[in-house]
Amino acid sequence: MDTMLEVKGLKTYFFTEAGVVKAVDGIDFTVGKNETIGLVGESGSGKTVTGLSVIRIVPPPGKIVDGSITFEGEDLLKKSEEEMRKIRGNKISMTFQDPTTSLNPLFTVGDQIAEVIREHDKNISKNESMEKTIKLLEMVHISEPTIRVKAYPHELSGGMKQRIAIARSLASDPSLLFADEPTTNLDVTVQAQVLELIKELRDKQKMSLVMITHDMGIVAEITQRVQVLYAGMVAEIAETHSLFSKPQHPYTEALLQAVPRIDQRKELKVIPGNIPNLINPPTGCRFNPRCQYAKAICSEKVPVLEKTDKGHYTACHFWRNLDLTGA
Ligand code: SF4
Repeated sequence: MDTMLEVKGLKTYFFTEAGVVKAVDGIDFTVGKNETIGLVGESGSGKTVTGLSVIRIVPPPGKIVDGSITFEGEDLLKKSEEEMRKIRGNKISMTFQDPTTSLNPLFTVGDQIAEVIREHDKNISKNESMEKTIKLLEMVHISEPTIRVKAYPHELSGGMKQRIAIARSLASDPSLLFADEPTTNLDVTVQAQVLELIKELRDKQKMSLVMITHDMGIVAEITQRVQVLYAGMVAEIAETHSLFSKPQHPYTEALLQAVPRIDQRKELKVIPGNIPNLINPPTGCRFNPRCQYAKAICSEKVPVLEKTDKGHYTACHFWRNLDLTGA
């Protein structure tokens, strides 16, 4: 599979008054053409900051301090802000958990989508951009698109706003979409519909997709490959079926045991403790204070990412000795 995006040694820190928060601390990953990968972890694992770093919209006091981000052969960290704006407008897009982040309350949803279309295609007329906007609303299954196009964001339900935000992020025909927890704030039925919609659009537009989520159910449903992040570092990388059937990192096992299953009436396990403070993260393996398998070396030495099988990597000192439970 051709590689579309390659991130190497990415470090994004936040320089706060309390100290330097190492939100992303040396992450590597790739996304292939037409591939869907999951960036998974609890909140605070660094997955959203990773997405923001790739499209270079990390808010201050955050800064990318090291690494390389190569997209279609070009290093995005060497691009000027103006060049980046073109890439964001044309090739890479991102949708957010809260659709109001990308929708301006003062403009109609139609104007906001048409603006992106015109930014993308300078020669398009106002009428043509409005026609294309209506087509996009149809594509994200908004009923009565010719009426809704004139609505303001506050006049729409949460599910509709998320569909509109997705339509806006697709208005520039991106080849790579980062979807950051796009279903988290929606009720269960609408969640399933939005997830179906993302899958449908991905296939129709032949896009690569990076699904940022804490939800292993979504990972199982939509991704081909998964990158599990813990406290700003990579814990495990694997093809989705391999990660679920044979996890090689205790954190992945813990995430899988916290997923409800319709076919099993077992008790859900909660991962004890919290994601650590990333100003002074634990020494050695950052998961050690919460890991039921930790031994002395775990707080002394940082585990390196090791290959365990074809396409499967883990950062755990004891992966050879552990027989972890899959889903
Ligand atoms: Fe647990 Fe040690 Fe493996 Fe970290 S290195 S996941 S603490 S066993």
